[in-house]
Amino acid sequence: MRIAVIDYDRCNPDKCGNFLCERVCPVNRMGGEAIIIDEENYRPVIQEASCTGCGICVHKCPFNAITIVNLPEELEEGCVHRYGVNAFVLYRLPVVKDGMVVGILGPNGTGKTTAVKILAGQLLPNLCGDNESWDNVIRAFRGNELQTYFERLRDGEIRPVVKPQYVDLIPKAVKGKVRDLLKRADEVGAFDDVVRELELENVLDRDIKHLSGGELQRVAIAAAILRKAHFYFFDEPSSYLDIRQRLKVARIIRKLADSGKSVLTVEHDLAVLDYLSDVIHVVYGKPGAYGIFSQPKGTRNGINEFLRGYLRDENVRFRPYEIRFTKSSERQSQASDVLVQYPRLVKDYGGFKLEVEPGELYMGEVVSIVGPNGIGKTTFVKMLAGVEEPTKGEVDWELKVSYKPQYIKADYEGTVYELLSRIDAAKLLNSFYKTELLNPLGIPDLYDKQVNELSGGELQRVAITAALIRDADLYLLDEPSAYLDVEQRLAVSRAIRHLMEKEGKTALVVEHDVLMIDYISDRLMVFEGEPGRHGRALPPMGMREGMNRFLASVGITFRREPETGRPRANKEGSVKDREQKEMGEYYYV
Ligand code: ADP
Ligand code: ADP
Ligand code: SF4
Ligand code: SF4
Repeated sequence: MRIAVIDYDRCNPDKCGNFLCERVCPVNRMGGEAIIIDEENYRPVIQEASCTGCGICVHKCPFNAITIVNLPEELEEGCVHRYGVNAFVLYRLPVVKDGMVVGILGPNGTGKTTAVKILAGQLLPNLCGDNESWDNVIRAFRGNELQTYFERLRDGEIRPVVKPQYVDLIPKAVKGKVRDLLKRADEVGAFDDVVRELELENVLDRDIKHLSGGELQRVAIAAAILRKAHFYFFDEPSSYLDIRQRLKVARIIRKLADSGKSVLTVEHDLAVLDYLSDVIHVVYGKPGAYGIFSQPKGTRNGINEFLRGYLRDENVRFRPYEIRFTKSSERQSQASDVLVQYPRLVKDYGGFKLEVEPGELYMGEVVSIVGPNGIGKTTFVKMLAGVEEPTKGEVDWELKVSYKPQYIKADYEGTVYELLSRIDAAKLLNSFYKTELLNPLGIPDLYDKQVNELSGGELQRVAITAALIRDADLYLLDEPSAYLDVEQRLAVSRAIRHLMEKEGKTALVVEHDVLMIDYISDRLMVFEGEPGRHGRALPPMGMREGMNRFLASVGITFRREPETGRPRANKEGSVKDREQKEMGEYYYV
């Protein structure tokens, strides 16, 4: 079975030389019609039945607008929805089960939202044809676990509740005080419990438009939980939250399932997904072209298969390399020469005071910065970047610093290529940077886009690239994982490590994603104190010492998964959790 997908946002028939694909297609040249021109919409259409799959148009199109793939025949009957001719195709759906949290793991653009819209009854799937009724959908899923679900959906017995992905858009849609919003949402009479569990007491009387990202996230989760429904969908519940809040939210969502509800979640922080889910589906395919939901897998095994890039039951390799986690002590660290010693620093904002103990950074190392939200991590990074003046102490070094802020603005007039080539055009052609940074982050595909039209995830990748190609001694990256999907997080982690190792440069990275921290860090800087009031930055320390110190303050223990070496959070109160806490070993056992 062959599918042809054209990204019409990229296709530009005037600039490629008047429908180049149509002119080079061998079938067309022999008088056939694999590619025809849709005169009305002024665009090419590939007729899948006539196309031989030679791939010539794919390689010739200067804008990479065409995807042609051969897929196994047996997928055809799993075809759930196609948005149109030469448009995105979705194969198979995730299971939904009462009393279970089902996690979805995969890159953006592979149909996760489409699947959820179908399960929420907002999109009638066309079954890749011209289907117009739920009865046909029920027939198509006969014998499948979803059959009953769709019957109930058709009969109006299922009420879905969705926690949206982009919580920062909520203030545009909802006005007023947090208390009023949550009171209105409360159909189960659990207002007080939910507010307490999500630690929202202090913001109840605040206007929604004045909330931070992390507060908006928790309000959105609270509003969803307070609704009375059967099916709950949480789209990226961990964004903007610190580690403690992430695991707390995971426990609260789990409780919903324990009370008999069906829960589906998309989550890119693998430690959280792991902690949260009973089963997971890996979604693979090509973003924007097609997506396939794997069979449901046990959480541990599913995440391992994902990291390996190989799905055993499906016999599909979807990534050419494996992701492995090694203890930083086992790494061939080049860190030896001191890059810089920074002095004691103080920043006093009036309401909040940060004290930084003096420390030193080595060449060739990556130091991650961990701590709760509101403890001064960004403030510290800004002082090193020269954006904020310390109240006491001085950052008077000769170092060249490259800084990627937490909140990035898209106020550049011009294309991505213009922006990046102004920073360092040579690096865009350098093969090391191409293989380690630009290609894995999908940057060449963005070159022609206007910077001010990029999505959140695209902008993040461009900002990270812009920071890493700049010639500097010290790279400061504030929350590089925000807005990135799991595949992109892994790509960014690899890029940061490889660049620092190869170039002997130093990176300081503020991060909440534990797998990312584990993967990239040689050492840790732990921030302690009372969020919003005062913070204390300890000097960089070894991973084990740092993680123990940090996780003890959070009250969470992690163990290593034996096959991949990845960290897994222990369930609170489990035997392992209790043992590790007794030994004071919160991370390495
Ligand atoms: P994900 O949630 O995994 O990011 P989506 O389900 O939102 O993926 O979208 C998958 C692909 O489907 C997108 O890349 C987009 O190209 C395509 N798509 C989504 N909505 C539409 C639509 N209404 N019309 C045409 N194509 C769409
Ligand atoms: P983190 O990065 O750990 O989340 P931040 O450094 O962003 O923490 O903020 C720490 C505290 O400092 C917060 O309570 C924040 O409200 C406060 N703060 C940050 N910038 C300013 C500022 N320019 N003026 C006053 N207070 C600020
Ligand atoms: Fe030209 Fe590519 Fe569009 Fe074909 S798909 S018309 S080659 S831009
Ligand atoms: Fe024509 Fe080959 Fe492209 Fe198919 S893959 S449309 S046969 S050029």
